[in-house]
Amino acid sequence: MTSFDPAGLAFPAAHFIGGRMVGAPAALELRRPSDGEAFAACPVADADVVDRAVSAARAALAASGWGGLRPRERTQALHRWADLIEAQAEPLARLEAVASTRPISALLEGDLPVTVEQIRFFAEFADKEGGDLVPTADDSFGFVATEPYGVVGAITPWNFPLSMAAWKLAPALAAGNAVVLKPSEMTPFATLRMAELSVQAGIPAGVIAVVLGDGPETGAALVAHPDVAKVSFTGSTAAGSAIMANLARTGVKPMTLELGGKSPQVVFADADLDLAASSIAGSVLANAGQACVAGTRLVVQASVAGALVDGILERISGIRPGPTWDAATRYSPIVSQRQLGRVDAIVRRAVDAGATVLAGGAPLEGPGYFYAPTVLADVGRDSPAILEEIFGPVLTVQIFEDEDEAVVLADHPSYGLAAGLYTRDLSRALRLTRRLQAGTIWVNRYGRSRDHILPTGGFKGSGIGKDLGREAFRASRRSKSVLVALR
Ligand code: NAD
Repeated sequence: MTSFDPAGLAFPAAHFIGGRMVGAPAALELRRPSDGEAFAACPVADADVVDRAVSAARAALAASGWGGLRPRERTQALHRWADLIEAQAEPLARLEAVASTRPISALLEGDLPVTVEQIRFFAEFADKEGGDLVPTADDSFGFVATEPYGVVGAITPWNFPLSMAAWKLAPALAAGNAVVLKPSEMTPFATLRMAELSVQAGIPAGVIAVVLGDGPETGAALVAHPDVAKVSFTGSTAAGSAIMANLARTGVKPMTLELGGKSPQVVFADADLDLAASSIAGSVLANAGQACVAGTRLVVQASVAGALVDGILERISGIRPGPTWDAATRYSPIVSQRQLGRVDAIVRRAVDAGATVLAGGAPLEGPGYFYAPTVLADVGRDSPAILEEIFGPVLTVQIFEDEDEAVVLADHPSYGLAAGLYTRDLSRALRLTRRLQAGTIWVNRYGRSRDHILPTGGFKGSGIGKDLGREAFRASRRSKSVLVALR
């Protein structure tokens, strides 16, 4: 794995429609998070371009019979696509590294292999998940059939672009749908190239389309398109709400919303503190906290708070910021100047509200949009640092005396995506998995494994429905109840 020169790469200003790149005028200037240099521009598809992509996807479904193939043929095509992505991992990772916050090493060790694995995982559902024969009276025959929706509209964020695209594309395609995907306007290029490889893999041209553009114009047009039968979205809670409002205005259709989080990590005095400190520091440092499930609210029992916080401070002190195209870089920049300013503004408001800065608390000196790993103590439940998703490397510390207080502090008024729990007491662990309000609970670990069978999705404002797991495949097909009278 090697460092590379970002100046040598080309970033196409194009959409991918009907199985080919369609050039488009550059509209939004993009800057490299690592050094702030302008490097490319993203087109913005208007409603006409979105309509062309959706029409091409419908036509491709009709012409290829993708949804009605022998299911194993879809499995095989998706496996071939995964093989091509694997073979092209290095060029894909380079495109992604320049535009995004993902260091080249992390992409080649994590994002790319995980993306490939997720496509292979969902490929296998195509010929294994079916409907149900159901119990009815002997004079009738009842079953629940399932069928693809048709064209799914998918919208993804910038924080793990390739993996997020795979979460949307793989189950929907395995289930027999076409997908029109709008990646984040900040990180569209590797996703575009990944989609292009699908045609070579034998996925019918047009069944995957990628339209580039922003949320208010391109995303909104995709969601509202009458021939988009289902919407699958990952992004902020604010954008998720805007999508719900859009659907309420333009026509009800099913949707999956994977939204923001503000996840707690609850540490009891009997926990393995070394493990907890490493895991919590890792959660702050990974992608500089720009992960929906980032466990950035530490809730710790009073008797071990000092020792644990010292352990975390020690672990976050050795960061190595650097450009994402340097193979030695482990610490990510924030995606944009705007987002960097937002992180800093929330930290400042928290300090004004009484928080004490134990580490960091400001952008790092030097080029690019880097923020220092930050730890804030003395935060009340109404602190901005507790209430708002910061999406940066900022950990808050809250202290509890007993289990009931831990549950109260862990609970968030508006988010419920994930929660971490550290204890050696098995009964307490199992009890708390019931009491914590989150769609995913990790015990004595934090963060996703490569067990793609575990679905992910939030409670409360963190979302509706699930990605990954059997649930994501099932949500990509609609069910039809059939009752036959036996006369
Ligand atoms: P964002 O909401 O700003 O944008 C996400 C995507 O939605 C982008 O493609 C954007 O162009 C589009 N969009 C924005 N407004 C839209 C609208 N009105 N209609 C249609 N599309 C619209 O989010 P982001 O800043 O790219 O990503 C960070 C957010 O994503 C965080 O809140 C994070 O928690 C969340 N996220 C959640 C998960 C999860 O699984 N729950 C995973 C990753 C990221």
